[in-house]
Amino acid sequence: MILIYHVGHCYTGCMRRLSQPEFESVLSNSSLKPRLKRELKFFKSAAHVSGAWEEYELLAITDRTGDKGVLLLEPDNELFLVQYEISRRIIDYKTGRARAIICDFCYTWQPGSNAASIVFMDAKTKHKVGFLCCGDLECSRHVRTLSKAALVSRAQLRENISNEDRVSRLKQRLQTKIDQLGLSPVAV
Ligand SMILES: [Zn+2]
Repeated sequence: MILIYHVGHCYTGCMRRLSQPEFESVLSNSSLKPRLKRELKFFKSAAHVSGAWEEYELLAITDRTGDKGVLLLEPDNELFLVQYEISRRIIDYKTGRARAIICDFCYTWQPGSNAASIVFMDAKTKHKVGFLCCGDLECSRHVRTLSKAALVSRAQLRENISNEDRVSRLKQRLQTKIDQLGLSPVAV
Protein backbone atom coordinates (compact mmCIF):
# COMPACT_ATOMS: atom_id res chain seq x y z
CA MET A 1 0.00 0.00 0.00
CA ILE A 2 1.31 3.41 -0.86
CA LEU A 3 0.52 6.27 1.44
CA ILE A 4 0.66 9.74 0.03
CA TYR A 5 1.16 12.58 2.46
CA HIS A 6 0.41 16.08 1.37
CA VAL A 7 2.99 18.44 2.73
CA GLY A 8 1.50 21.06 5.03
CA HIS A 9 -1.81 19.32 5.45
CA CYS A 10 -2.70 16.88 8.15
CA TYR A 11 -5.67 14.56 8.32
CA THR A 12 -5.77 13.47 11.94
CA GLY A 13 -5.75 16.89 13.54
CA CYS A 14 -3.55 19.85 13.34
CA MET A 15 -2.94 21.90 16.41
CA ARG A 16 0.70 22.77 16.82
CA ARG A 17 2.10 22.36 20.31
CA LEU A 18 2.54 25.73 21.97
CA SER A 19 4.76 26.47 24.94
CA GLN A 20 3.94 29.28 27.34
CA PRO A 21 6.51 31.65 25.75
CA GLU A 22 5.14 30.84 22.28
CA PHE A 23 1.61 31.50 23.47
CA GLU A 24 2.74 34.80 24.97
CA SER A 25 4.38 35.75 21.72
CA VAL A 26 1.11 34.99 19.87
CA LEU A 27 -0.70 37.20 22.40
CA SER A 28 1.79 40.02 22.05
CA ASN A 29 1.10 40.09 18.29
CA SER A 30 -2.65 40.26 18.89
CA SER A 31 -4.98 43.20 19.45
CA LEU A 32 -6.39 41.76 22.69
CA LYS A 33 -6.79 44.05 25.66
CA PRO A 34 -3.84 43.84 28.09
CA ARG A 35 -6.17 42.96 30.93
CA LEU A 36 -7.55 39.86 29.16
CA LYS A 37 -4.00 38.80 28.21
CA ARG A 38 -2.98 38.92 31.87
CA GLU A 39 -6.03 36.94 32.99
CA LEU A 40 -5.53 33.97 30.66
CA LYS A 41 -4.50 30.76 32.42
CA PHE A 42 -2.40 29.00 29.80
CA PHE A 43 -1.04 26.11 31.89
CA LYS A 44 -4.36 25.21 33.46
CA SER A 45 -6.22 25.44 30.14
CA ALA A 46 -3.63 23.44 28.17
CA ALA A 47 -3.17 20.76 30.87
CA HIS A 48 -6.09 18.59 29.76
CA VAL A 49 -4.63 18.27 26.27
CA SER A 50 -2.18 15.82 27.92
CA GLY A 51 0.40 16.26 25.19
CA ALA A 52 -1.98 15.26 22.38
CA TRP A 53 -2.00 18.66 20.66
CA GLU A 54 -2.20 17.06 17.24
CA GLU A 55 -5.65 15.72 18.16
CA TYR A 56 -7.09 19.18 18.63
CA GLU A 57 -8.57 21.63 16.15
CA LEU A 58 -9.75 24.11 18.77
CA LEU A 59 -8.52 24.77 22.26
CA ALA A 60 -9.89 27.26 24.76
CA ILE A 61 -7.46 29.21 26.91
CA THR A 62 -9.68 30.71 29.56
CA ASP A 63 -9.60 33.13 32.41
CA ARG A 64 -10.24 32.06 36.02
CA THR A 65 -14.02 31.89 35.53
CA GLY A 66 -13.87 29.80 32.35
CA ASP A 67 -16.47 32.11 30.78
CA LYS A 68 -14.16 34.12 28.59
CA GLY A 69 -10.81 33.84 26.98
CA VAL A 70 -9.33 33.03 23.60
CA LEU A 71 -9.84 30.08 21.33
CA LEU A 72 -6.89 28.71 19.44
CA LEU A 73 -8.18 27.42 16.11
CA GLU A 74 -6.14 25.36 13.73
CA PRO A 75 -8.39 23.62 11.23
CA ASP A 76 -5.60 23.33 8.70
CA ASN A 77 -2.00 24.47 8.83
CA GLU A 78 -2.57 28.03 10.00
CA LEU A 79 -3.20 29.11 13.56
CA PHE A 80 -5.96 31.57 14.43
CA LEU A 81 -6.81 33.18 17.70
CA VAL A 82 -10.19 34.61 18.56
CA GLN A 83 -11.54 36.25 21.68
CA TYR A 84 -14.73 34.68 23.02
CA GLU A 85 -17.33 34.79 25.75
CA ILE A 86 -19.46 31.78 26.57
CA SER A 87 -22.77 31.46 28.34
CA ARG A 88 -23.57 27.99 29.66
CA ARG A 89 -27.27 28.23 30.13
CA ILE A 90 -29.70 28.31 27.24
CA ILE A 91 -33.22 28.56 28.56
CA ASP A 92 -36.20 27.40 26.61
CA TYR A 93 -38.60 30.30 27.11
CA LYS A 94 -41.65 28.02 26.91
CA THR A 95 -40.63 25.46 29.53
CA GLY A 96 -38.16 27.56 31.57
CA ARG A 97 -35.68 24.65 31.38
CA ALA A 98 -32.17 24.44 30.00
CA ARG A 99 -32.44 23.55 26.33
CA ALA A 100 -30.52 20.86 24.44
CA ILE A 101 -28.57 21.98 21.38
CA ILE A 102 -26.50 20.66 18.49
CA CYS A 103 -23.02 22.19 18.46
CA ASP A 104 -22.37 24.48 15.49
CA PHE A 105 -18.74 23.31 15.39
CA CYS A 106 -18.69 19.56 15.95
CA TYR A 107 -22.37 18.67 15.39
CA THR A 108 -22.60 16.92 18.78
CA TRP A 109 -26.00 16.86 20.46
CA GLN A 110 -25.67 18.25 23.97
CA PRO A 111 -28.23 18.15 26.77
CA GLY A 112 -29.12 21.42 28.49
CA SER A 113 -26.48 20.72 31.16
CA ASN A 114 -23.65 20.98 28.60
CA ALA A 115 -25.19 23.38 26.09
CA ALA A 116 -23.79 26.85 25.57
CA SER A 117 -23.86 29.88 23.36
CA ILE A 118 -20.61 31.50 22.42
CA VAL A 119 -19.75 34.87 20.92
CA PHE A 120 -16.54 35.27 18.93
CA MET A 121 -15.09 38.72 18.66
CA ASP A 122 -12.35 39.88 16.36
CA ALA A 123 -10.18 41.97 18.69
CA LYS A 124 -9.10 44.19 15.82
CA THR A 125 -12.39 44.91 14.01
CA LYS A 126 -14.71 44.29 17.03
CA HIS A 127 -16.83 42.25 14.66
CA LYS A 128 -18.94 39.70 16.64
CA VAL A 129 -20.59 36.43 15.64
CA GLY A 130 -22.58 34.06 17.88
CA PHE A 131 -22.91 30.27 17.75
CA LEU A 132 -24.29 27.36 19.75
CA CYS A 133 -21.64 25.04 21.10
CA CYS A 134 -20.63 22.32 23.53
CA GLY A 135 -20.38 23.85 27.01
CA ASP A 136 -17.01 22.16 27.60
CA LEU A 137 -15.60 23.25 24.20
CA GLU A 138 -14.12 19.75 23.91
CA CYS A 139 -15.35 19.44 20.31
CA SER A 140 -12.10 17.76 19.20
CA ARG A 141 -12.66 14.95 21.71
CA HIS A 142 -16.33 14.60 20.82
CA VAL A 143 -15.63 14.12 17.10
CA ARG A 144 -13.09 11.41 17.97
CA THR A 145 -15.69 9.64 20.13
CA LEU A 146 -13.48 10.04 23.21
CA SER A 147 -16.24 11.33 25.48
CA LYS A 148 -19.44 10.06 27.00
CA ALA A 149 -21.22 13.04 25.44
CA ALA A 150 -20.17 11.76 22.01
CA LEU A 151 -21.78 8.37 22.65
CA VAL A 152 -24.99 9.96 23.91
CA SER A 153 -25.07 12.20 20.85
CA ARG A 154 -24.55 9.28 18.45
CA ALA A 155 -27.62 7.59 19.96
CA GLN A 156 -29.67 10.80 19.86
CA LEU A 157 -28.88 11.80 16.28
CA ARG A 158 -28.51 8.29 14.82
CA GLU A 159 -25.83 9.59 12.58
CA ASN A 160 -23.53 6.89 11.31
CA ILE A 161 -20.33 8.44 9.97
CA SER A 162 -16.68 7.75 10.77
CA ASN A 163 -14.54 9.72 13.21
CA GLU A 164 -12.40 10.85 10.24
CA ASP A 165 -15.47 12.33 8.57
CA ARG A 166 -16.46 14.03 11.83
CA VAL A 167 -12.98 15.52 12.15
CA SER A 168 -13.06 16.87 8.61
CA ARG A 169 -16.55 18.28 9.14
CA LEU A 170 -15.32 20.05 12.31
CA LYS A 171 -12.39 21.49 10.36
CA GLN A 172 -14.65 22.72 7.57
CA ARG A 173 -17.05 24.31 10.01
CA LEU A 174 -14.26 26.06 11.90
CA GLN A 175 -12.85 27.34 8.64
CA THR A 176 -16.28 28.75 7.73
CA LYS A 177 -16.44 30.61 11.07
CA ILE A 178 -12.92 31.95 10.54
CA ASP A 179 -13.90 33.20 7.08
CA GLN A 180 -17.17 34.63 8.40
CA LEU A 181 -15.28 36.70 10.96
CA GLY A 182 -12.48 37.56 8.54
CA LEU A 183 -9.75 36.45 10.96
CA SER A 184 -6.12 36.60 9.94
CA PRO A 185 -3.70 33.81 10.84
CA VAL A 186 -1.31 34.59 13.67
CA ALA A 187 2.45 34.30 13.49
CA VAL A 188 4.01 31.84 15.95
ZN1 LIG B 1 -18.87 20.90 19.93
